[in-house]
Amino acid sequence: MFAAVTPVPPDAILGLSLAYAADTRSDKIDLGVGVYRTIEGETPVMAAVKKAEAFVIDHQNSKRYTPPEGAPGFTDNILKLVFGDADVLQSGRAAAVQAPGGCGALRLAADLLNRFGARTISTGAPTWANHKPLMGAAGFDIQMLPYYDAASSSIDFDAYVEAVKKLGPSDVLLIHNCCHNPTGADLSTDQIDILAQMAKEQGFFPLIDAAYHGFAQDLEKDAYMIRAFADRVPEVLVTYSCSKNFGLYRERVGALIVVSDTAERALAIKSHALNIARANYSMPPAHGGAVVSEILGSPELSKMWRDELAAMSGEVRGNRQKLVAEAEKAGLGNRLSYITNQHGMFSLLPLNEEEVVKMRVDHGVYIVGGGRINMCGVNHTNVERLVAAFKAVTQS
Ligand code: PMP
Repeated sequence: MFAAVTPVPPDAILGLSLAYAADTRSDKIDLGVGVYRTIEGETPVMAAVKKAEAFVIDHQNSKRYTPPEGAPGFTDNILKLVFGDADVLQSGRAAAVQAPGGCGALRLAADLLNRFGARTISTGAPTWANHKPLMGAAGFDIQMLPYYDAASSSIDFDAYVEAVKKLGPSDVLLIHNCCHNPTGADLSTDQIDILAQMAKEQGFFPLIDAAYHGFAQDLEKDAYMIRAFADRVPEVLVTYSCSKNFGLYRERVGALIVVSDTAERALAIKSHALNIARANYSMPPAHGGAVVSEILGSPELSKMWRDELAAMSGEVRGNRQKLVAEAEKAGLGNRLSYITNQHGMFSLLPLNEEEVVKMRVDHGVYIVGGGRINMCGVNHTNVERLVAAFKAVTQS
């Protein structure tokens, strides 16, 4: 069977982490892998999560299977978090299933869309590196539409809209909810409204990837896109990840949210999602879902979690400001000022591939190919060195 096997090349971002770990320079800077990190370089367990975990473990007296839709209370709480008191929830037009992380939710969504005859999935370029393999595994070849204009470090909305105009009822548009990965360039509320209107008129299917809810501005503002589409368009799928906003990465917690025009149809679509999951991993891991459910179901833990999340996202925003201020101080004018208008952990530095390599080899600054930097790795101890390296590499 495997006589002719050759190894798959290692994942580029994981390879970068290994190279960083092996680098003996004491002033190396890690702007690579996409997890939240404190200034000490740690990714701590959130205090609300610790408390909820203690409670969950203490009250657990069986390892029986959970229901197929996940840990009890999980989906109801996630739906409330995402939709608040919006009509879509009151009317039962929204339903959800727990999934193994945002990746699991994306794969479920792709399988579901495939089962019902979707022809293409398109998204703005560049996109998160795993979108292609995830959708590809379900039989789709992602079509890249113009989105980010590297020359101006901003969204080329006109070019994007022109490309979206060509989509029709059997086409899917994959949209990043907020904290666009890898560019940090999010659609404005006006642009979201335009896109939702286009979806309504043209009938293309919106698939919203929400992996950073609460990391851009706050939980309410970051739900704008999902609510705007759910309000205006009969059908939407949302893939939700609890990896970043709850810091539950390895527990693999996420959800596939289904919005349809009637409650009955939403439940029927959900039943297909469960059917697809059953034929794959049967049901999602219970622990992380139980922890999220415990937090969101408790006013005390919920407040604690919201405060921690706000502190994390505030810190990342602060790092953006530090980088831009340092670049101005170093005489780069407003070359990097776009960074403070962007959201989430990532932005692209205007570097070509050769310059990305130079940053790593000559200056010990680890950046993902394409120029993606994780803003969590930028802080007052290294920002001066980082800007000096950027200046040296781009002005040599
Ligand atoms: N979508 C995007 C855009 C992401 O950046 C990520 C995580 N890096 C995910 C989905 C999936 O997250 P997870 O499977 O870890 O929950």
